[in-house]
Amino acid sequence: MKQNCSSKHRRPVLVVHGGAWAMPDDTVAAHERGVRNAMSAGWKVLERGGSAVDAVEAAVMVMEEDDTFDAGKGSFLTSVGTVEMDALIMDGATLRAGGVGGVQRVRSAIRLSRLVLEKSPHVYFVGAGAEKFAQEHGMELIDNKELVVEREVVRLRDFKAVLAAGGKDTTFSGGDEQSRVPEQMSHDTVGAVAVDVNGNIAGATSTGGTVNKEPGRVGDSSLIGCGCYADNLSAAASCTGWGEPIMKLVLAKSAADAVAAGKEPQVAADEAIANLKNRLNGHGGIILLDASGRYGIAYNTPRMAWGVRTKELEDVAVVRGA
Ligand code: ASP
Repeated sequence: MKQNCSSKHRRPVLVVHGGAWAMPDDTVAAHERGVRNAMSAGWKVLERGGSAVDAVEAAVMVMEEDDTFDAGKGSFLTSVGTVEMDALIMDGATLRAGGVGGVQRVRSAIRLSRLVLEKSPHVYFVGAGAEKFAQEHGMELIDNKELVVEREVVRLRDFKAVLAAGGKDTTFSGGDEQSRVPEQMSHDTVGAVAVDVNGNIAGATSTGGTVNKEPGRVGDSSLIGCGCYADNLSAAASCTGWGEPIMKLVLAKSAADAVAAGKEPQVAADEAIANLKNRLNGHGGIILLDASGRYGIAYNTPRMAWGVRTKELEDVAVVRGA
């Protein structure tokens, strides 16, 4: 059943993020530009009365195509030098969702997720089955090498060299999380949440995951309620950061539930990130938006790239310190 929050014509709001981590100064302009481009693509959809689902898909696709971010081309590499992408898109009006994990041969994991949402009775596809589904629904399958950029080849090589020299293992694929230093790690996952003129909300998150992850590892980003969620009756959320702790706390859904229980989205977002730190020493960021257009943005990393667009607030795109 469609859960329209109200028949009243509402003011659309779009919030996007392009990761949360210790972004070096020389990457700030590219993050800001990427977030701004994503907002303008998503806003175009909302402005002409389009749906929140279309808007978040459009915004995320722009960032997947921008190799500044850890999504689509330019994603972080697995330990064997490949790109494996995860994504989820969710419609808060109907609770329909589409997710993919570990896909290697599509240009846009969020486009494929949207196809899953629209065309499949299932919610989630992984690996080869996801790629078969993509092909059957008209998406071109590409060579994984087309998604690999030189910057990431160098990052992976340097990362492995540090590990080989006895440096701290900062990968997040298991083991003692407390002894790691994730706040220094790159988290360039992208995401968007939106409310449209009909008062419907949606969320989308897309990622290449974490540097040097083991092949087959799936993070929080594409898991419902972990790195992404949307329900008109609570809120839409998209997370970024160290995926394993985010999953364990089902962070996106917990934050949305706090909004449903009466908390302001900003308070719920702050509490979600505080919980991430206090319970599991996790690091990251969250964007949260409810169907009345109230939003919250929180992170405990040195910087987060985010942007907000409303009718009054034009193209705020910032990379800000905590
Ligand atoms: N959350 C993502 C993951 O763990 C990484 C990120 O946000 O950059 O796969």
